[in-house]
Amino acid sequence: MAGERERTWPGSLQVCSECGSEMKYAGLGEFRCSECGNVALNDYGRVRAYLEEHPGATQSEVSKATGVSPNRIRQLLMEERIEISANSSVFLFCEMCGAPIRSGVRCLKCEEKYKKGVELERKSERVHSNVTGHAMGNQGQASGEMRFLKK
Ligand SMILES: [Zn+2]
Ligand SMILES: [Zn+2]
Repeated sequence: MAGERERTWPGSLQVCSECGSEMKYAGLGEFRCSECGNVALNDYGRVRAYLEEHPGATQSEVSKATGVSPNRIRQLLMEERIEISANSSVFLFCEMCGAPIRSGVRCLKCEEKYKKGVELERKSERVHSNVTGHAMGNQGQASGEMRFLKK
């Protein structure tokens, strides 16, 4: 009764562990078997499902419970595919000021500072390269003298 099978493409289909049929991606990291109704979750689905049930979970708790590595969880969070619920305990910290954040890498304030900082850095790099240019010129003269002395 299965009818014609849909074409598979990487990452979008999994094989059902219960009956061996193809599982369709149902969204939110969930794969569902159309034959027996078995549900499988990918990394994203497992982390998301666990956080929905345990809103106060920390990164290490989620990692232990789901088997998804902390790095992978952080990656998923940084991609902002998962947002920590407002009543969650502290899960991520701003890399600049250490303030608790719900997703991404920096808090909003530091994100602004960071963008400004990048512009300032570009300017100071230009000054630096001028200084190095001078130093290089002096070195060239010095080595020229050395060569002269050797002769
Ligand atoms: Zn199945
Ligand atoms: Zn910050």
